[in-house]
Amino acid sequence: GKDIVPQAPEDPMFGLMAAYRRDTAEMKIDLGIGAYRDNNGKPWILPVVKQADELLRKDPNLNHEYLPIAGLPDFTSASQKLVFGKDSPVVTEKRVVSFQTISGTGALHIGALFLSKFYNRSASEAPAIYMSNPTWANHNQVFGNVNIPTKQYPYFSRETCSLDFDGMINTIKSAPAGSIVLLHACAHNPTGVDPTQEQWKQIASVMKEHHLFPFFDTAYQGFASGSLAKDGWAINYFVEQGFELLVAQSYAKNFGLYGERAGCFHFVTSPASNAQDTVARVGSQLAILQRSEISNPPAYGARIASLVLNDPKLFAQWEEDLRTMSGRIIEMRKALRGKLEELKTPGTWHHITDQIGMFSFTGLDERQVGELREKYHVYMTKNGRISMAGLNTGNVEYFADAVDAVVRE
Ligand code: PMP
Repeated sequence: GKDIVPQAPEDPMFGLMAAYRRDTAEMKIDLGIGAYRDNNGKPWILPVVKQADELLRKDPNLNHEYLPIAGLPDFTSASQKLVFGKDSPVVTEKRVVSFQTISGTGALHIGALFLSKFYNRSASEAPAIYMSNPTWANHNQVFGNVNIPTKQYPYFSRETCSLDFDGMINTIKSAPAGSIVLLHACAHNPTGVDPTQEQWKQIASVMKEHHLFPFFDTAYQGFASGSLAKDGWAINYFVEQGFELLVAQSYAKNFGLYGERAGCFHFVTSPASNAQDTVARVGSQLAILQRSEISNPPAYGARIASLVLNDPKLFAQWEEDLRTMSGRIIEMRKALRGKLEELKTPGTWHHITDQIGMFSFTGLDERQVGELREKYHVYMTKNGRISMAGLNTGNVEYFADAVDAVVRE
């Protein structure tokens, strides 16, 4: 009867990974999950992470005790500096409170839970969160699970394979005052398309005028522009404009610490005489939420990141490792576009090099994606997104030939 738990569908991304693993074909390509692969298609441990790991192992004072509820202090303070800049007024004026989280997902979750409990409780209707269409699929679940209504703003134009800025800004304009707007700080997943600085300024201005609340998701700092500071530009522009805002930060991609679950949640309040009091009250509630959800966060990934972020030499090595990853991805974008243009594959392919970050939204439709999988053993999400990191000099031509074939069918 009513008490029976219905069967839920399998997570599409993890289903895709399992199907790839089951495929026994000699030539197969995994373009699904957004994890970096080296030119041999293998997971890559960043050299700086190896160094940090060796240093940690030698440290006689390390043990397996619990971290504090808010996490490793050296990690959260370094995370603030990374997102907001070393000399940011949010740090010097103590307008930010930060909690170490279970990677980016955990940061989104604690932010969502906090909003569901404390945000705009006097409103007659619960405020909705507006997210881009498309967005990272898990966003819908994370906010939906805490009963925050989810709505969409247009983001991607299928015609131009680029930003639908008018659609985005008009929908944001029409959102009821007090609505929350989820924004990808850089390297938008799944499209690889970001607003320009000029467009970000317009988004901020509309959001300020309409009293909307920004929630930034930053999962790819260091993957977009080649500069960590530039990748944080949008967040800091909003901070300069005096917004109160939330940030969910992940170290999965930029440190390759996927399974270690290192992340950070930041609450920033506007400049005001009672700012420190606000931060203290919010922090006290976050501590209760964190305690009941995870008690305290996992230590290893945060120790690695903290060691690197707080040491100038290791930090410089990290920046080099980031350039290694983003540089290889850019090379693969060039190779894929070049090969498709050489084959005169119907359509235009400049968007492959225009888009940035780990993903490309190819414009391939569901039928084509299905055929790539059935006939060519290429695994990618139904929406036509490919993880550029799954391509390498050994498979990019095979992939381009396969795309050419399914497009011509
Ligand atoms: N936000 C976005 C946009 C992402 O793409 C991801 C990773 N796929 C995350 C958040 C969170 O990932 P994680 O929990 O592994 O840090």
